[in-house]
Amino acid sequence: MNAFEKKISTIDAYPLKAENISTLQVNLGYKCNLRCAHCHVGASPDRKEEMSSATVDRLLDILRENDTITTVDITGGSPELNPNYRRFIKSAVDMGKKVMVRSNLAILTDPEMKDIPEFLAQNRVKIIASLPCYTAEGVNGQRGKGTYEKAIAVLKSLNKLGYGQEGTGLEIDIMFNPAKAEIAPDQNMLESTYKNKLGEMHGITFNHLIALSNMPIGRLGKTMSSTDKEAYLKQLEEKFNPATVKNVMCRSLISVSPDGTLYDCDFWQMLKLPVKNRNSNTVNSFDYSSLSNRDIVTGPLCFMCTAGAGASCSGSLV
Ligand code: SF4
Ligand code: SF4
Repeated sequence: MNAFEKKISTIDAYPLKAENISTLQVNLGYKCNLRCAHCHVGASPDRKEEMSSATVDRLLDILRENDTITTVDITGGSPELNPNYRRFIKSAVDMGKKVMVRSNLAILTDPEMKDIPEFLAQNRVKIIASLPCYTAEGVNGQRGKGTYEKAIAVLKSLNKLGYGQEGTGLEIDIMFNPAKAEIAPDQNMLESTYKNKLGEMHGITFNHLIALSNMPIGRLGKTMSSTDKEAYLKQLEEKFNPATVKNVMCRSLISVSPDGTLYDCDFWQMLKLPVKNRNSNTVNSFDYSSLSNRDIVTGPLCFMCTAGAGASCSGSLV
């Protein structure tokens, strides 16, 4: 048993079990227009992994056959770069699924992506926009020169379409992550700072802020020494909060990689640790009944999801 498993044994939560699958988190490809220093995917313009049309078709079948999967969370890399992006979103929306897309915003200034904001608004798709700081210095330092200015221009145009405006129902959340291997500050406090700063500086509004600590894997992991990784995990372990365990995202989510393999979460996808169910570990062998109460792969990195107020792709857990 590893340190996390020992810890959750003390609250009778080992083995950690899924309770349902309400969200299908789909990674359309690891290619990205950016190459951020902290990226746990290790995404960049050079990556080639991309979900095929056949895998997208199979996912649409899974969504059609399983009413309990109500939400589709589309991620990458830059998911916009996959030629099936619009088709997948439109088909899922037409089935009545709640669709959310993750975007680094800067990509939406590319000429061939200019229709996307309006397409998302028309389909009432929720946007989770990553913006690791409210200053140009912070964003450009982490993501590259000019990315802040592009993101701000896109946020303004999304506001004009109704995103983040009261009464429209068009939601846009901002995703924050620290520049280094650090625990994110308090989400509520940071949300109000972001709202004030982006409002004052640019007249931008948004719904909520999601504060996510950095996972020491991918590009960030490669820059850290094993001593630094150990110290970071120790810090997370010391902040373990038992109240977060029942809400960790893997208990209600399945993560799908571009090649159609199934994972308990996006982090395990990057570490190539698929779900334990050998008979149902790809989209082609997807079996809701066995996956929905599966035993989840757990390890010391799970302390990242369970430290303090907890963390998930949708924000704090308690
Ligand atoms: S953090 Fe996001 S925007 Fe940056 S390289 Fe990774 S996937 Fe791309
Ligand atoms: S890292 Fe987090 S989401 Fe992934 S299995 Fe562990 S607790 Fe679940």
